[in-house]
Amino acid sequence: MTVAPHYVLVLNCGSSSLKFAVIDPETGTTPVKGTVECLDQACARMTVTNGTDSYRREIRPANHAQALARMVAVLDGEGVMNAIRAIGHRVVHGGEYFSESVRIDEKVRARIAECARLAPLHNPAHVTGIEAAQKAFPDLPQVAVFDTAFHHKLPEKAYLYPLPLRFYRDYHIRKYGFHGTSYRYIATRIQALTGQETLRSVVCHLGNGGSVAAIAGDNSRDTTMGLTPLEGIVHGTRCGDIDPAIPRILTEQFGIAAEEVEAILWRQSGLLGLSRISNDCRTLEARRGQGDQAAERALEVYCYRLAKHIAGQMVALNGCDLLVFTGGIGENSSYIRARTVEQLAFLGCRLDETRNAETLGGRTALISAPDSMPIWVIPTDEELLIARDTARLAAAGKNEEEAKA
Ligand code: ADP
Repeated sequence: MTVAPHYVLVLNCGSSSLKFAVIDPETGTTPVKGTVECLDQACARMTVTNGTDSYRREIRPANHAQALARMVAVLDGEGVMNAIRAIGHRVVHGGEYFSESVRIDEKVRARIAECARLAPLHNPAHVTGIEAAQKAFPDLPQVAVFDTAFHHKLPEKAYLYPLPLRFYRDYHIRKYGFHGTSYRYIATRIQALTGQETLRSVVCHLGNGGSVAAIAGDNSRDTTMGLTPLEGIVHGTRCGDIDPAIPRILTEQFGIAAEEVEAILWRQSGLLGLSRISNDCRTLEARRGQGDQAAERALEVYCYRLAKHIAGQMVALNGCDLLVFTGGIGENSSYIRARTVEQLAFLGCRLDETRNAETLGGRTALISAPDSMPIWVIPTDEELLIARDTARLAAAGKNEEEAKA
């Protein structure tokens, strides 16, 4: 007799998009997943992928609740609705409240809303998505999985900014770190691949937003993103680290309005800003191959700053046993990996060129030369981890919220 699968619906509600995936937490099988883009705009569209097919659904301008209703109709059509047992929400910011995933109740929802002052682009959309999902699935347990939770126990020397201490004490201004779900997943993969539980790993999660983390076993010791996901390495459209005096100079000396400065730092900088071509690494690599100097410059700055941050994270671990690349760029760009690692040769990092070139498209591989510190490419799977946390907490039926006084 075959047992009917029990699926988790993983939801990632962004400010203008809704991503969903129906996942079997035991096997990782994903019978249906999809995205609704351009919420609240005329260009709203839904893309769905099932085991055999990928198709688009035109939808009218939709808010989160309408997009969820449309998604429910699709899941019904795909025949998976009745097998969904719980909903897992990706939540970007849990502030100092949440050190692990929790069942969502009124208090948790209110705290996620409160953390909107730390993540104004993301948390309000999560709350809207949670409310819409509670209406659409009133009988199913809902779980929140936080990007910040993995970094909750950073040492004080890593999370304190050198500002007057009252800003931390009174307003909780500190480094929180992000991509925690990805790092937690990678930490489990490192243990599975090496058979060792206490290795010191520097992990580079390189996607549209990117960060580097210092991980000892399964504990985060430091990371490059901060109070917000703006800090750290060069991102696709975000600037990463800059002199903190720059925004005021742009406003006061060049008359650029404060909101415009915000838009510049978050959406017009990084690879896009430097190249004036694209935030997409693939496009930049192709243009560089054709001799485009602007693309070359943007990639050079990206790799140089990334290498500096990798070396910096090694300080947090008092050394390093292995280096890991993950995320869309980390998993696919042999060029970025090569150009970054060549700047870390003085630390004993050297790639096997063939293995590096061959490792893309979701492959797991050791790509270092025999005499190098081990360097791995390990594909991440944040949605699977969200599904597993959700299934576990739904089964336990208990709320593990940790409130900090
Ligand atoms: P997100 O942060 O949105 O989750 P991803 O982890 O999916 O992003 O990474 C997206 C990025 O991965 C894209 O911006 C693109 O630059 C990069 N990428 C994907 N495939 C390749 C490739 N084959 N070569 C270089 N870069 C790639």
